[in-house]
Amino acid sequence: MKKIVLDEQVMTCQSGESLLDTLLHNGVDIAYSCRQGVCQSCMVRSLAGAPPAMSQRGLKDVRQQQNYLLACQCYPEHDMEIALNAQSAFFTEATVAAKAMLNAETVLLTIQCQKPLDFYAGQFVKLQRADGLTRSYSIANSRLHTTKLTFHVRRLPNGQFSEWAHDELQIGDTLKVSEPQGLCFYLPDRPTQNLLLIGTGSGLAPLAGIISEALQQGHSGELHLFHGSRTAAGLYWIDEMQDLERQHLNFHYTPCVSNGTAPAGFAAGRANEVAIQALPKLKDWRVYLCGHPDMVNQAKFQVFLKGASSTDIYADAFHVTPNLSPVIDKSS
Ligand SMILES: Cc1cc2nc3c(=O)[nH]c(=O)nc-3n(C[C@H](O)[C@H](O)[C@H](O)COP(=O)(O)OP(=O)(O)OC[C@H]3O[C@@H](n4cnc5c(N)ncnc54)[C@H](O)[C@@H]3O)c2cc1C
Repeated sequence: MKKIVLDEQVMTCQSGESLLDTLLHNGVDIAYSCRQGVCQSCMVRSLAGAPPAMSQRGLKDVRQQQNYLLACQCYPEHDMEIALNAQSAFFTEATVAAKAMLNAETVLLTIQCQKPLDFYAGQFVKLQRADGLTRSYSIANSRLHTTKLTFHVRRLPNGQFSEWAHDELQIGDTLKVSEPQGLCFYLPDRPTQNLLLIGTGSGLAPLAGIISEALQQGHSGELHLFHGSRTAAGLYWIDEMQDLERQHLNFHYTPCVSNGTAPAGFAAGRANEVAIQALPKLKDWRVYLCGHPDMVNQAKFQVFLKGASSTDIYADAFHVTPNLSPVIDKSS
C-alpha cells in the first residue's frame, strides 16, 4: 500500500492498483480515456521525485523531465505527491463546420479550430465536449489544413461520445481540441521508401491523412493501402481511393471484406492477411497500422516476420474502454 497525496487529500493505493484507479475510487475528477497509455488523457505530475519509468513511456522528453506521468500506467513504488494536469492548457476551441455520413456507421466531422494546430499527418487529438467527456480521434487530413480538421467517427452502440457526435452534435456547436499526439505519423525524410498502410473501419482516418500528405510531398516509393471491414458496407471512400489510384501510379488500394463472399473488386479476408499474402517481403518498408487493436497487434508481428524493422512499424490501436472498473493487464 502506498500513500498518495493530492492537494489536501490523502489516499491509499492498494498493491497492484493503478494510480488512475486510486484517484477514481476516491472520487477525484480526472479525465481519462483509453487506459492503455496511448491517449495521454490522464497525465498528472509528480511533485516529489521521479515517477515509475513505465508511467512515462511515450511522453515527450520535456514532460518526462518535469515528472509528468500517465496515471493509468502508474503502479506506485513509493508514496507519491501529485498534481492534476491543467487539462485546459492543452485545449483550443473549435466549431463544427460540417457533418456528412461516410457510411451507415461513420460520420465525417469537420471542425474549424480557433488556432492552427502544428500536427504531423496521422496524429490524433482529444476532443472534449462541454461536460468534460473526452475521447481520442485521429486527424484525417494532411498538413495543408492546420485550422480545418477532419475526423471519421464510428458510432459504437451505447458509446457516449460517438453516439452524441452522430445524433446530437450540430454544425456551429463548439468542442475543445487537445494538442496533437501520437507517434504514428508521416515524415517526408525517406521519399523513396515503400509504404504499407493497413486499416480497419475508421482506422482509415489517420491513413488517409498520411496518404494525402505523402502524395502532396511527392513521395515516390510505392504506397499500398489495405482497408478492411467485415462487410463491404463497413468500408467507405472506395470511389475516392480508386480515383486516387488512377491519379497516382505509385498508389495502390485494396478494399478487403472478411465475412462471406467478397464483391467483385474486393479482396476476401482480413486486411492484414490479404496484405501479407500480396506483399510477402517487407524489408526496408515503412508500415502504418491503424484501427482495431487485435488487427494492429497481429499485424505488427506479421510484418516484422516479413522483414519490416520494428523502427519502421508505426501503429495506433483504437482502444475502446468503457468507463467501468477495468481488468488491468500489467503484462502488456
Ligand atoms: C489513439 C486513438 C485514436 C482513435 N481514433 C479514432 C478515430 O479516428 N475514429 C474513431 O471512430 N474512433 C477512434 N478512437 C476510439 C475513440 O477514442 C473512442 O474510444 C470511441 O469513439 C468510443 O467512444 P465512446 O465514448 O463512443 O464509447 P464509450 O462510452 O467509451 O464505450 C465504449 C464501448 O463500451 C461499451 N459500454 C459502455 N458502457 C458499458 C457498460 N456499462 N457495459 C458494457 N459495455 C459498455 C459501449 O457500448 C461501447 O461499445 C481512437 C482511440 C485511440 C486510443
